[in-house]
Amino acid sequence: MKLLVATRSAHKVGEIREILADVRGLELLDLGQAGVAQSPAEDHLEPHATFEENALSKARYFHQLTGLPTVADDSGLAVDALGGAPGVLSKRFAPDEGLEGLERDLANNRYLIAQLEGVPPERRGAHYVCVAALVESGQPPVVFRGEAPGRIVDEPRGRGGFGYDPHVVDPSSGKTYAELAPEAKNERSHRGRAFAALGAALRQRGA
Ligand code: IMP
Repeated sequence: MKLLVATRSAHKVGEIREILADVRGLELLDLGQAGVAQSPAEDHLEPHATFEENALSKARYFHQLTGLPTVADDSGLAVDALGGAPGVLSKRFAPDEGLEGLERDLANNRYLIAQLEGVPPERRGAHYVCVAALVESGQPPVVFRGEAPGRIVDEPRGRGGFGYDPHVVDPSSGKTYAELAPEAKNERSHRGRAFAALGAALRQRGA
């Protein structure tokens, strides 16, 4: 089975490839491999208040363009002391316009830490959320949700992962998600859990 992984994030694609690596008969294509040129329309695919709706919106859009079975991931960080923010707005949390990639991640992280100034360690709880939506012809869409707990620290640690990982401590190891080896992050992360559930569903039907 060919499956389009519909994200422009190379980090997400890399993690998803590792998580689904042992599903026999599954061939993953990224948007480049599927020949989908980037379009300004992609900037408007996640206007909703829930991860589920945004993931479905992205998966439906790229499925319509390609006809391929398509999975899209919508994900983010929910911080308890911020009432669950940034949540679905995680990608563009910092107000700085026009930043992308690593610069965007650094601005988001600085902004997050500024928002938490004066919040003591015991009120620094958070969790990551990932929803993977699968859309294919002739089948009802399906979503898989994964969550992973965390605690926010001011000082960044580690060079792995992406996004908020250097500031989010995995409670089971005491390491930030950026300090974990890729396999260890995938074993326990929100994306690891959501895509492992997708992998199990695909395996059950023989991919
Ligand atoms: P999306 O493209 O709307 O799903 O935005 C996801 C955003 O959430 C990313 O740009 C990151 O800021 C954050 N995020 C999602 N997953 C992770 C992760 O595994 N580690 C760190 N940050 C993440």
